[in-house]
Amino acid sequence: MNTYLALDLGGTKLLIGEIDDQGNVLRHKKYESGYFNQPAALEFIKQSLDDYIATVGWKKKPIAMGLGVIGRINPEQGEWLQIDPKRTTPIPLAKELSKRYDMPCFIDNDVKSATRAVQLFGLGKTSNNFIYINVGTGIAAGTVVNGQIIRGGHFNAGEVGHTHSGLCLAIPCGCGRNDCVEQIASGIGFNTCARILREKYPTRLQIPEDQSRRVDATEIFSLSKQGDPLCVQLVENASMALANLIMNLTRMSDPEMIVLGGGIVSDGYLHTKILEKLNPTTMRFVTHGVVLTKLNPNFIGLIGAGAVAMNEAY
Ligand SMILES: [Zn+2]
Repeated sequence: MNTYLALDLGGTKLLIGEIDDQGNVLRHKKYESGYFNQPAALEFIKQSLDDYIATVGWKKKPIAMGLGVIGRINPEQGEWLQIDPKRTTPIPLAKELSKRYDMPCFIDNDVKSATRAVQLFGLGKTSNNFIYINVGTGIAAGTVVNGQIIRGGHFNAGEVGHTHSGLCLAIPCGCGRNDCVEQIASGIGFNTCARILREKYPTRLQIPEDQSRRVDATEIFSLSKQGDPLCVQLVENASMALANLIMNLTRMSDPEMIVLGGGIVSDGYLHTKILEKLNPTTMRFVTHGVVLTKLNPNFIGLIGAGAVAMNEAY
Protein backbone atom coordinates (compact mmCIF):
# COMPACT_ATOMS: atom_id res chain seq x y z
CA MET A 1 0.00 0.00 0.00
CA ASN A 2 1.20 3.51 -0.91
CA THR A 3 0.12 6.59 0.99
CA TYR A 4 -0.24 10.19 -0.17
CA LEU A 5 -0.16 13.48 1.67
CA ALA A 6 -3.28 15.48 0.82
CA LEU A 7 -4.12 19.14 1.44
CA ASP A 8 -7.54 20.63 0.77
CA LEU A 9 -7.50 24.45 0.92
CA GLY A 10 -10.95 26.04 0.86
CA GLY A 11 -11.95 29.67 1.40
CA THR A 12 -11.56 29.58 5.17
CA LYS A 13 -9.88 26.32 6.15
CA LEU A 14 -7.10 23.91 5.32
CA LEU A 15 -7.59 20.19 5.82
CA ILE A 16 -4.43 18.10 5.82
CA GLY A 17 -4.49 14.31 5.75
CA GLU A 18 -2.95 11.05 4.68
CA ILE A 19 -4.76 8.99 2.02
CA ASP A 20 -4.10 5.43 0.88
CA ASP A 21 -4.31 4.30 -2.74
CA GLN A 22 -7.91 3.12 -2.23
CA GLY A 23 -8.98 6.64 -1.24
CA ASN A 24 -9.25 5.93 2.50
CA VAL A 25 -8.47 8.80 4.87
CA LEU A 26 -5.92 7.42 7.36
CA ARG A 27 -5.29 10.57 9.39
CA HIS A 28 -6.32 14.20 9.21
CA LYS A 29 -6.24 17.56 10.96
CA LYS A 30 -8.03 20.85 10.25
CA TYR A 31 -6.55 24.35 10.32
CA GLU A 32 -8.56 27.61 10.22
CA SER A 33 -7.10 30.03 7.70
CA GLY A 34 -9.28 33.16 7.57
CA TYR A 35 -9.20 35.34 4.43
CA PHE A 36 -5.86 35.16 2.58
CA ASN A 37 -3.94 36.17 -0.52
CA GLN A 38 -1.64 33.72 -2.31
CA PRO A 39 1.73 34.58 -0.66
CA ALA A 40 0.08 34.52 2.80
CA ALA A 41 -1.60 31.23 1.90
CA LEU A 42 1.74 29.67 1.00
CA GLU A 43 3.16 30.65 4.39
CA PHE A 44 0.02 29.36 6.10
CA ILE A 45 0.27 26.04 4.22
CA LYS A 46 3.93 25.62 5.26
CA GLN A 47 3.24 26.47 8.92
CA SER A 48 0.25 24.14 9.07
CA LEU A 49 2.10 21.31 7.34
CA ASP A 50 5.06 21.69 9.68
CA ASP A 51 2.62 21.42 12.57
CA TYR A 52 0.90 18.42 11.00
CA ILE A 53 4.18 16.57 10.55
CA ALA A 54 5.20 17.39 14.15
CA THR A 55 1.87 16.61 15.83
CA VAL A 56 0.14 14.00 13.64
CA GLY A 57 2.94 12.45 11.58
CA TRP A 58 2.69 9.56 9.10
CA LYS A 59 1.09 6.18 9.30
CA LYS A 60 3.39 5.33 6.40
CA LYS A 61 5.68 7.84 4.70
CA PRO A 62 3.79 9.33 1.72
CA ILE A 63 5.30 8.92 -1.75
CA ALA A 64 3.84 12.20 -3.07
CA MET A 65 1.71 15.13 -2.02
CA GLY A 66 -1.36 16.63 -3.67
CA LEU A 67 -3.18 19.89 -3.10
CA GLY A 68 -6.64 20.99 -4.05
CA VAL A 69 -6.88 24.78 -3.78
CA ILE A 70 -9.48 27.38 -4.66
CA GLY A 71 -9.00 29.44 -7.82
CA ARG A 72 -7.33 28.96 -11.19
CA ILE A 73 -4.58 26.37 -11.38
CA ASN A 74 -2.24 25.21 -14.11
CA PRO A 75 -1.84 21.59 -12.98
CA GLU A 76 0.86 20.68 -15.47
CA GLN A 77 3.13 23.55 -14.40
CA GLY A 78 2.02 23.28 -10.77
CA GLU A 79 1.20 26.97 -10.76
CA TRP A 80 -1.47 28.66 -8.65
CA LEU A 81 -2.54 31.46 -10.99
CA GLN A 82 -5.36 33.23 -9.18
CA ILE A 83 -7.78 33.00 -6.28
CA ASP A 84 -10.23 35.53 -7.73
CA PRO A 85 -9.87 38.67 -9.89
CA LYS A 86 -8.99 40.70 -6.77
CA ARG A 87 -6.35 38.20 -5.64
CA THR A 88 -4.02 37.45 -8.54
CA THR A 89 -0.43 36.72 -7.54
CA PRO A 90 0.70 33.65 -9.49
CA ILE A 91 3.01 31.41 -7.47
CA PRO A 92 4.83 28.16 -8.35
CA LEU A 93 3.10 26.34 -5.49
CA ALA A 94 4.01 22.75 -6.43
CA LYS A 95 7.72 23.57 -6.91
CA GLU A 96 7.96 25.44 -3.60
CA LEU A 97 6.37 22.65 -1.61
CA SER A 98 8.15 19.86 -3.44
CA LYS A 99 11.52 21.45 -2.63
CA ARG A 100 10.69 22.17 1.01
CA TYR A 101 9.22 18.75 1.83
CA ASP A 102 11.40 16.72 -0.52
CA MET A 103 8.64 14.82 -2.30
CA PRO A 104 6.79 15.14 -5.65
CA CYS A 105 3.96 17.65 -5.39
CA PHE A 106 0.94 18.08 -7.66
CA ILE A 107 -1.83 20.68 -7.46
CA ASP A 108 -5.27 21.26 -8.90
CA ASN A 109 -8.36 23.39 -8.37
CA ASP A 110 -10.48 22.20 -5.41
CA VAL A 111 -13.60 21.29 -7.40
CA LYS A 112 -11.54 19.57 -10.11
CA SER A 113 -9.77 17.65 -7.32
CA ALA A 114 -13.15 16.55 -5.98
CA THR A 115 -14.08 15.54 -9.53
CA ARG A 116 -10.97 13.34 -9.61
CA ALA A 117 -12.07 11.78 -6.31
CA VAL A 118 -15.42 10.93 -7.92
CA GLN A 119 -13.57 9.57 -10.99
CA LEU A 120 -11.14 7.37 -9.08
CA PHE A 121 -13.10 6.31 -6.01
CA GLY A 122 -16.74 7.31 -6.47
CA LEU A 123 -19.65 6.95 -8.86
CA GLY A 124 -17.44 8.26 -11.69
CA LYS A 125 -15.83 4.81 -11.88
CA THR A 126 -18.90 3.73 -13.87
CA SER A 127 -18.77 6.49 -16.49
CA ASN A 128 -16.34 8.38 -18.73
CA ASN A 129 -18.85 11.15 -19.33
CA PHE A 130 -20.18 12.81 -16.22
CA ILE A 131 -20.38 16.20 -14.51
CA TYR A 132 -19.61 16.74 -10.85
CA ILE A 133 -21.34 19.85 -9.48
CA ASN A 134 -20.20 21.17 -6.13
CA VAL A 135 -22.88 23.14 -4.29
CA GLY A 136 -21.28 24.60 -1.18
CA THR A 137 -20.28 28.14 -0.24
CA GLY A 138 -20.10 28.72 -4.01
CA ILE A 139 -20.98 26.61 -7.05
CA ALA A 140 -18.60 25.12 -9.63
CA ALA A 141 -18.38 21.97 -11.74
CA GLY A 142 -15.90 19.47 -13.09
CA THR A 143 -16.97 18.27 -16.51
CA VAL A 144 -15.53 14.91 -17.61
CA VAL A 145 -15.72 14.17 -21.34
CA ASN A 146 -14.28 10.88 -22.61
CA GLY A 147 -12.46 10.47 -19.30
CA GLN A 148 -10.82 13.91 -19.41
CA ILE A 149 -11.66 16.90 -17.21
CA ILE A 150 -12.34 20.00 -19.34
CA ARG A 151 -9.98 22.82 -18.37
CA GLY A 152 -10.21 25.47 -21.09
CA GLY A 153 -7.65 27.93 -22.42
CA HIS A 154 -7.12 29.70 -19.09
CA PHE A 155 -7.87 26.81 -16.70
CA ASN A 156 -11.14 28.55 -15.94
CA ALA A 157 -13.67 26.01 -17.28
CA GLY A 158 -16.36 24.90 -14.86
CA GLU A 159 -17.22 28.20 -13.19
CA VAL A 160 -20.85 27.36 -13.83
CA GLY A 161 -22.06 29.19 -10.71
CA HIS A 162 -21.85 32.28 -12.91
CA THR A 163 -24.36 31.17 -15.49
CA HIS A 164 -27.89 32.56 -15.52
CA SER A 165 -30.31 30.72 -13.25
CA GLY A 166 -33.30 31.31 -15.51
CA LEU A 167 -34.98 33.19 -12.64
CA CYS A 168 -35.57 36.94 -12.76
CA LEU A 169 -35.08 38.16 -9.20
CA ALA A 170 -32.67 41.04 -10.00
CA ILE A 171 -30.06 39.73 -7.57
CA PRO A 172 -26.70 41.25 -8.48
CA CYS A 173 -23.56 39.09 -8.63
CA GLY A 174 -19.93 40.08 -8.09
CA CYS A 175 -19.17 38.90 -11.64
CA GLY A 176 -21.22 41.78 -13.05
CA ARG A 177 -24.34 39.90 -14.12
CA ASN A 178 -27.66 39.38 -12.36
CA ASP A 179 -29.31 36.20 -11.08
CA CYS A 180 -26.31 33.87 -11.40
CA VAL A 181 -27.02 30.35 -10.05
CA GLU A 182 -24.46 30.92 -7.29
CA GLN A 183 -26.41 33.94 -6.02
CA ILE A 184 -29.52 31.79 -5.56
CA ALA A 185 -28.51 28.22 -4.72
CA SER A 186 -25.15 28.28 -2.88
CA GLY A 187 -24.45 28.98 0.79
CA ILE A 188 -23.71 32.57 -0.20
CA GLY A 189 -26.82 32.64 -2.39
CA PHE A 190 -29.22 31.46 0.33
CA ASN A 191 -27.86 34.20 2.56
CA THR A 192 -28.18 36.90 -0.10
CA CYS A 193 -31.68 35.84 -1.17
CA ALA A 194 -32.94 35.51 2.41
CA ARG A 195 -31.90 39.12 3.12
CA ILE A 196 -33.45 40.48 -0.09
CA LEU A 197 -36.67 38.43 -0.15
CA ARG A 198 -37.52 38.82 3.57
CA GLU A 199 -39.35 42.02 2.56
CA LYS A 200 -41.81 39.99 0.49
CA TYR A 201 -42.37 36.82 2.52
CA PRO A 202 -43.06 36.40 6.24
CA THR A 203 -40.62 34.13 8.06
CA ARG A 204 -39.41 32.67 11.33
CA LEU A 205 -35.89 32.32 9.91
CA GLN A 206 -33.13 33.90 11.99
CA ILE A 207 -31.35 36.43 9.77
CA PRO A 208 -28.33 37.90 11.59
CA GLU A 209 -28.24 41.72 11.51
CA ASP A 210 -24.45 41.43 11.33
CA GLN A 211 -23.89 41.19 7.55
CA SER A 212 -20.66 39.23 8.02
CA ARG A 213 -22.63 36.33 9.57
CA ARG A 214 -24.44 34.04 7.15
CA VAL A 215 -27.94 32.60 7.37
CA ASP A 216 -27.85 28.87 8.19
CA ALA A 217 -28.99 26.82 5.16
CA THR A 218 -29.87 23.86 7.41
CA GLU A 219 -32.38 26.07 9.22
CA ILE A 220 -33.85 27.19 5.86
CA PHE A 221 -34.42 23.54 4.88
CA SER A 222 -35.93 22.68 8.22
CA LEU A 223 -38.34 25.65 8.13
CA SER A 224 -39.18 24.99 4.47
CA LYS A 225 -40.40 21.51 5.48
CA GLN A 226 -42.70 23.24 8.01
CA GLY A 227 -44.15 25.56 5.35
CA ASP A 228 -42.39 28.79 6.35
CA PRO A 229 -43.26 31.13 3.41
CA LEU A 230 -39.79 32.68 2.91
CA CYS A 231 -37.95 29.36 3.28
CA VAL A 232 -40.34 27.55 0.93
CA GLN A 233 -39.63 30.25 -1.67
CA LEU A 234 -35.85 30.12 -1.14
CA VAL A 235 -35.83 26.34 -1.60
CA GLU A 236 -38.10 26.62 -4.65
CA ASN A 237 -35.80 29.20 -6.25
CA ALA A 238 -32.60 27.29 -5.47
CA SER A 239 -33.89 23.95 -6.72
CA MET A 240 -35.21 25.57 -9.93
CA ALA A 241 -31.86 27.35 -10.46
CA LEU A 242 -29.96 24.07 -9.98
CA ALA A 243 -32.36 22.11 -12.19
CA ASN A 244 -31.90 24.71 -14.94
CA LEU A 245 -28.12 24.53 -14.50
CA ILE A 246 -28.17 20.74 -14.74
CA MET A 247 -30.35 20.78 -17.86
CA ASN A 248 -28.20 23.46 -19.53
CA LEU A 249 -24.97 21.57 -18.80
CA THR A 250 -26.55 18.34 -20.02
CA ARG A 251 -27.22 19.98 -23.38
CA MET A 252 -23.61 21.18 -23.47
CA SER A 253 -21.54 18.05 -22.84
CA ASP A 254 -23.99 15.10 -23.14
CA PRO A 255 -23.14 13.35 -19.84
CA GLU A 256 -24.46 9.94 -18.70
CA MET A 257 -24.54 11.08 -15.11
CA ILE A 258 -24.64 14.22 -12.98
CA VAL A 259 -23.08 13.86 -9.54
CA LEU A 260 -23.93 16.43 -6.87
CA GLY A 261 -21.74 17.14 -3.85
CA GLY A 262 -21.05 19.89 -1.33
CA GLY A 263 -22.52 20.97 1.99
CA ILE A 264 -25.72 22.50 0.61
CA VAL A 265 -26.96 19.31 -1.07
CA SER A 266 -25.44 16.70 1.23
CA ASP A 267 -28.57 16.09 3.36
CA GLY A 268 -30.60 15.16 0.26
CA TYR A 269 -33.46 17.66 0.70
CA LEU A 270 -32.56 19.92 -2.23
CA HIS A 271 -31.77 16.86 -4.37
CA THR A 272 -35.37 15.65 -4.13
CA LYS A 273 -36.67 19.10 -5.08
CA ILE A 274 -34.29 19.29 -8.06
CA LEU A 275 -35.38 15.88 -9.41
CA GLU A 276 -39.03 17.06 -9.50
CA LYS A 277 -38.05 19.93 -11.82
CA LEU A 278 -36.00 18.09 -14.46
CA ASN A 279 -37.50 17.77 -17.92
CA PRO A 280 -37.52 14.09 -19.01
CA THR A 281 -36.83 14.91 -22.66
CA THR A 282 -33.81 17.03 -21.82
CA MET A 283 -32.52 14.37 -19.43
CA ARG A 284 -33.20 11.30 -21.59
CA PHE A 285 -29.54 10.42 -22.23
CA VAL A 286 -28.47 10.96 -18.61
CA THR A 287 -28.99 7.24 -18.10
CA HIS A 288 -27.07 6.98 -14.78
CA GLY A 289 -29.22 9.76 -13.32
CA VAL A 290 -28.72 12.87 -11.22
CA VAL A 291 -27.25 11.45 -8.03
CA LEU A 292 -25.63 12.52 -4.79
CA THR A 293 -22.00 11.56 -4.36
CA LYS A 294 -21.44 8.64 -2.00
CA LEU A 295 -18.07 10.00 -0.92
CA ASN A 296 -18.07 11.54 2.56
CA PRO A 297 -18.85 15.26 2.03
CA ASN A 298 -16.42 16.21 4.79
CA PHE A 299 -13.54 14.48 3.03
CA ILE A 300 -14.29 14.63 -0.71
CA GLY A 301 -11.86 17.55 -1.19
CA LEU A 302 -9.16 15.78 0.79
CA ILE A 303 -9.63 12.49 -1.08
CA GLY A 304 -9.52 14.57 -4.29
CA ALA A 305 -6.20 16.10 -3.24
CA GLY A 306 -4.96 12.54 -2.65
CA ALA A 307 -6.14 11.64 -6.15
CA VAL A 308 -4.20 14.62 -7.50
CA ALA A 309 -1.10 13.26 -5.77
CA MET A 310 -1.70 9.92 -7.46
CA ASN A 311 -1.50 11.97 -10.64
CA GLU A 312 -3.43 9.48 -12.71
CA ALA A 313 -5.58 11.71 -14.90
CA TYR A 314 -5.18 15.28 -16.05
ZN1 LIG B 1 -21.99 35.74 -11.32
